[in-house]
Amino acid sequence: MNKKIAVMRGDGIGPEIVTEAIRVLEKVAEKFGHSFSYTELLMGGCSIDATGEPLTEETLASAKACDAVLLGAIGGDVGKSPWYRLPPDKRPEAGLLKLRKGLGLFANIRPAKLFPELADACPLKPELTEGGFDFVVMRELTGGLYFGARETVTENGVRHAVDTLTYDENEIRRIAVQAFEIARKRNRRVCSVDKANVLDSSRLWRAVAEEVAADYPDVTLTHMLVDNCAMQLVRAPKQFDVILTENMFGDILSDEASMVTGSIGMLASASLGEGSFGLYEPSHGSAPDIAGQDKANPLATILSAAMMLRYSFDMEAEADAVENAVSQVLRDGIRTGDIAAPGETVIGCHAMGTAVCERI
Ligand code: NAD
Repeated sequence: MNKKIAVMRGDGIGPEIVTEAIRVLEKVAEKFGHSFSYTELLMGGCSIDATGEPLTEETLASAKACDAVLLGAIGGDVGKSPWYRLPPDKRPEAGLLKLRKGLGLFANIRPAKLFPELADACPLKPELTEGGFDFVVMRELTGGLYFGARETVTENGVRHAVDTLTYDENEIRRIAVQAFEIARKRNRRVCSVDKANVLDSSRLWRAVAEEVAADYPDVTLTHMLVDNCAMQLVRAPKQFDVILTENMFGDILSDEASMVTGSIGMLASASLGEGSFGLYEPSHGSAPDIAGQDKANPLATILSAAMMLRYSFDMEAEADAVENAVSQVLRDGIRTGDIAAPGETVIGCHAMGTAVCERI
């Protein structure tokens, strides 16, 4: 299969970690007989330096012409970098928001996977997480409270603020469909999270999730109230496969879910729109404190590339090969500084990429 990948290395550790992810993709291409082509694009601070804009229209158009986007990280040291003396809409992060919007990405997937070898980094009691856990949080990205009408008015000398939480059934249906499709590639269980005991938008969410479930008889749908879900994530995280939820609930739950895994350098993420196009990036930032020192952990980016293989290219065996190689690296005791226990030998970003390639 031939696939076109837009590559945005970005700033800070971005170039280093993306280099390792591409080496891994090339190993996959060689082993499975595929051909990947890479379109290098500027986004974030590097684009500001070259063009004055964090994301140009030409770059956006080039990204759209590809099958998927692989992104490193963008941004600099907020206290020191001249990028942060620019107006907010000219700063590196504005490029990311414009990119997500311009690509029509409405579903964010954050996997929360505890590798048994990194169990020490997990803040939960070992008896709750024995054997590890592996679920994803699927968060709606473009609707709900963050995008509804809002205002603050003063009436009779009293300040009064309103935020509006709205969803229409089409917005709910398209992300529910994505959640069920992804569940089919995993363990076929969707837990839809809402606040249907209080909110009308949640009652609609639940009704539409049920309608979509009728088209997926092979996937089990359950519902959970968001307050209960927040508790269950730290009480019994092994019960989940795909958590489907609206924008604000997902914002909070996905951060909680990533914290229970404990290691920022391991957290992948994907943002999907209609069809198979997606943007894949690690959940962490550009880590300017360690940029250019060969210290970054490339595994979150490598695992994001594995998600790209699975969700955008429908390459299951290839994605499994990458994920299994990462597991094997951890089993073999190979660690970058961020995931090393005291006394363990630490290797650099490039050597970690090599270690994964050797195990594919
Ligand atoms: P950060 O995630 O970049 O770093 C937080 C800490 O984690 C640092 O100590 C860093 O060294 C460490 N770290 C992060 N990723 C690592 C990795 N792969 N391997 C080893 N250690 C790693 O967060 P921050 O310092 O708050 O932000 C730095 C810059 O990144 C800011 O400009 C911020 O706006 C930007 N940022 C970008 C994104 C993105 O590109 N999507 C996301 C978050 C933050």
